[in-house]
Amino acid sequence: MSPKNDGSRFQLRSAADGPKGPLRRILHAYGRPYRRLTALAVIASVLFPALAVLPPYLLQVAIDAVLLEQRPFSVAGQSPDWISEDRTAQLVVITVLLVTVVGAAAVTSAVSTLAWGRVAQRIQHDIRTASYRALQERPLASIHGEQRGQLLSVLSNDVDELDRLLRRGGKESIELVVRLLGVTCVLFVLHWQLALVALAVIPPTVLLTGWFFSRIRPIHRAIRQQIGRLNARIENNLDGITTIKTYGTTDREARRIKEGSRRVFRAKWQAAVWNAGVFPAIGFVNAVGFSVMLLLGGFWIVNGPPFPGAAPLTVGTLVAFLVYNHQLRDPLIDVGAVVNTYVELMAAMERISRLDVEPPEVSPSPRDMNRCLASGPVELDRVSFGYRADQPVIDGIDAQFPGTSMIGIVGPSGSGKTTLARLLVRYYDPDRGEIRIAGENISEVSRQTFRESVAMVAQQAHILPETVRANVAYGCDADEAEIRAALEAAGAANFVAELPDGLDTPVGQGGVALSGGQRQRIALARAIAHDARILILDEATSDVDPDVEVRLRRTFRRLGRERLVIVISHRLSTVRPADKIFVLSDGTFVESGDHDELIATQGDYARMWAQQIGKAETTSPIIGNQRRE
Ligand code: ADP
Repeated sequence: MSPKNDGSRFQLRSAADGPKGPLRRILHAYGRPYRRLTALAVIASVLFPALAVLPPYLLQVAIDAVLLEQRPFSVAGQSPDWISEDRTAQLVVITVLLVTVVGAAAVTSAVSTLAWGRVAQRIQHDIRTASYRALQERPLASIHGEQRGQLLSVLSNDVDELDRLLRRGGKESIELVVRLLGVTCVLFVLHWQLALVALAVIPPTVLLTGWFFSRIRPIHRAIRQQIGRLNARIENNLDGITTIKTYGTTDREARRIKEGSRRVFRAKWQAAVWNAGVFPAIGFVNAVGFSVMLLLGGFWIVNGPPFPGAAPLTVGTLVAFLVYNHQLRDPLIDVGAVVNTYVELMAAMERISRLDVEPPEVSPSPRDMNRCLASGPVELDRVSFGYRADQPVIDGIDAQFPGTSMIGIVGPSGSGKTTLARLLVRYYDPDRGEIRIAGENISEVSRQTFRESVAMVAQQAHILPETVRANVAYGCDADEAEIRAALEAAGAANFVAELPDGLDTPVGQGGVALSGGQRQRIALARAIAHDARILILDEATSDVDPDVEVRLRRTFRRLGRERLVIVISHRLSTVRPADKIFVLSDGTFVESGDHDELIATQGDYARMWAQQIGKAETTSPIIGNQRRE
């Protein structure tokens, strides 16, 4: 049975020697495989607006040369003989050109959308999978701690937004620049004096949108924050709904949710007010430009050039200008949006790139990558550890657990039992001292090797939303017989047999709801099927019925004949049959020995036993006989 997990180390490709800045750094690292597709996307994004600039120019030719016959017919300086005199032929040529240009623009637009969409989605997919794997490699402290919410938000919000941001940042910014440049060039070619008037609307529009986005950005940030807080509170309340109902605080909680929702509403309303005001304002600036141009241009046409040396203006040119003015409106509004997108993209990239800044959880140790841990004694050599630097939770523990034995660890709540289990399964590395298995410092063994050798069942048994079979065989290749044997040993065979589809019954989320004790037994079966050399049970039977627990004690003893079984429990009866019991208090072992020895010592263990089992039994002569069940 070997774990399926390849255990490979994987970090977010950070391209540390590549260009600086999170956006460029990440695009450099992730965009490289899609260079050709990106080139196609860029070409299409240049061609589309370049083609879209042409129709008003063709309109100008149609009006001036064909309809009003104010000048000889020519398109871009070309005028073949066969059409120069025939107005119908001229109209047909213009129409064919128009349809061709518009058709080509439609095709390039589709290509640009598809190519950018694909590049953005591929990069998003790569970053999502890489950042998830990078996250798995982080020190557990940072995933368990308060950073958890932030990490989740990076993985869900930021990575989800990447697709949209990359598409806007790439496609729309290129199209915008080309469109603005293209229109400006054509305007100057058509009539440079009127071009100056037409372009006068650009600065106020850009200033207005820039100002608008500087105002709306903090509002959007506030909306996101308020929604995040509200969702967190709703989630928290749903988790704790029993407590809320028990303490009769439903009204208070409903009021708090209402208040949170009201804050979201206020922030959204503020954004709606800004949107309602600014977009019509931009439209108005543009319409003023349109009207001024119509007035000036009309005057120019009716009365001739307003000053000596000014070029005459034709109706076709004025119409083309008016159409261009209209065409410029949306791109000008987009300037602010694209700049805003770019700022958001930079911020998202910055947060994503931070995922890999912490050092990997385990120091690299190539010499050990393929070595298997033999079954052997576990030695704790002056092991100290604290979640915070100044507060040791495990304080200089020395101990030896034989390779084939059942070890019990007991102690009051908060004494550090779970923390010790976490150190033994290497969720954390000790701050000082060493944990050795068969003489090997576990910090220097590859994670894969280690996971094959050590299994743990925690109190909060994690059940996957899959079948019983998949839950037991998770992480190993156990066959049907092994799965059944593991369930039997874990005292779960009976209730699994009663499930509608037996082993193939879906359990957990969306499946059959299991009781706490049933969950623990499935998790125990998983650990047993894993056949690890070292089995650590951290309050793993706290929720099972007393009669099942008695059977499980027997199982632990049997398992302890072939491997090391470490049973951590506040229930002393669970560890009673252990070969050796350690009593933990304030992060150190204060007593050790088998049950009889500890009772005889009349120390902490004897006191706890008396409290739990009853004073009479501590002196009962049959204790010794009951010990080995
Ligand atoms: P036990 O299992 O004996 O009840 P724990 O090992 O769970 O004890 O906890 C020991 C101490 O470490 C407690 O003071 C607890 O508050 C603290 N502690 C446990 N887990 C964490 C954590 N993830 N971050 C910070 N402190 C923790």
